[in-house]
Amino acid sequence: MEELYNTFVNSFTGYAKYLWNTISHPFDGFNYFTWLILVSLAVWILEMLLPWRKNQKFIRKDFWLDAFYMFFNFYIFNLLIFVALSNTSAKLFGKMMSGIGLPSNYLFDLSGLHMVLQFIIYFIIFDFVQWSVHNLLHRVPFLWRFHKLHHSVKEMGFAAHLRYHFFESFLYKTAIYIVLAYVLNFKIEYAFIMHAGAILIGHLNHANVGWDYGPLKYILNNPKMHIWHHAKELPKEHPYGMNFGITLSIWDYIFKTDYVPSSGRDIELGFENVENYPTNFFAQQIEPFKRKQ
Ligand SMILES: [Zn+2]
Ligand SMILES: [Zn+2]
Repeated sequence: MEELYNTFVNSFTGYAKYLWNTISHPFDGFNYFTWLILVSLAVWILEMLLPWRKNQKFIRKDFWLDAFYMFFNFYIFNLLIFVALSNTSAKLFGKMMSGIGLPSNYLFDLSGLHMVLQFIIYFIIFDFVQWSVHNLLHRVPFLWRFHKLHHSVKEMGFAAHLRYHFFESFLYKTAIYIVLAYVLNFKIEYAFIMHAGAILIGHLNHANVGWDYGPLKYILNNPKMHIWHHAKELPKEHPYGMNFGITLSIWDYIFKTDYVPSSGRDIELGFENVENYPTNFFAQQIEPFKRKQ
């Protein structure tokens, strides 16, 4: 128990040092803080140069709320949870597995494969796990309470990407950890590259730009597809929603949850009664815990 506790505490102190280092040395090697700001600025400029909804303001409704979410979720509940959870649950999970007679560290080791191949395998599985969790967030009523926050966006723009309840981070990271780290002996260095790529594609998915990468749309998620994910009116054939893709769109095509019937440029976004959903950060964080939904 003490070992677990120490791992947990060391993860936090280590993370605090890391966080301070990234902010105080913005141009030292690859730096998440700089990356998030650069990607956000680049996609924001794209929205200004090539706006899909021409009458949407550059500083749209809830822009600053979403900008806050971007830093809050990215730092506090994304990297931090990832670090603490993967270190601590690595030990805890390992103990549980050895208790039932399985190896305590990992099931399969990909380290004999070429680095690029390892990365591709990790990335495909990473994205599929996220697609599956996203599906559950829509299909399980208890989880939907939390995920509603992401769907409360009424005017779409890049910063909406990271508007979500912090509980979602726990779910995603736990699932990713169990599948990637335990089953496949995932290397943390790859997580940084995958996460950086996912941030860029995720920003673009929510951006006010009207493109879909042509034939690549069947592989890569894109703004013209993801806008339908936020549609207020759901079609009869998809009562729990559609287009659950995070970075890759291919899962939706494989599992028939794809839906892009026409240009979604001006569709209404949200869910039933979205106008009554809280509009400030604290109220939004508390909302899923309220009894009446
Ligand atoms: Zn969703
Ligand atoms: Zn979204």
